[in-house]
Amino acid sequence: MPISIISDNNLGRHRPAVYCDYCGNEIHKSVSGNCEWKVEFEGGQIIDSQPIFTHKYCCSSFEAKNSGKYYWKFMELTQFLDDLNM
Ligand SMILES: [Zn+2]
Repeated sequence: MPISIISDNNLGRHRPAVYCDYCGNEIHKSVSGNCEWKVEFEGGQIIDSQPIFTHKYCCSSFEAKNSGKYYWKFMELTQFLDDLNM
């Protein structure tokens, strides 16, 4: 589950958490994560609208492991969150 609500004992409250679809670990800072989505080679149409979240350092490995007759576009997780406010 890439996005969850978790109990954070350090904060003493519940908070959202985003997990990397490659390594499975939490992306603790939005500046260290990407949102990716699959598009067609020709035309760049979206193939799958389900967003994928990765650490920036896991991005290339995720794409190499999940390559095919498409490519991955990405935006920084900070941009993903900003765009929710459009
Ligand atoms: Zn990762």
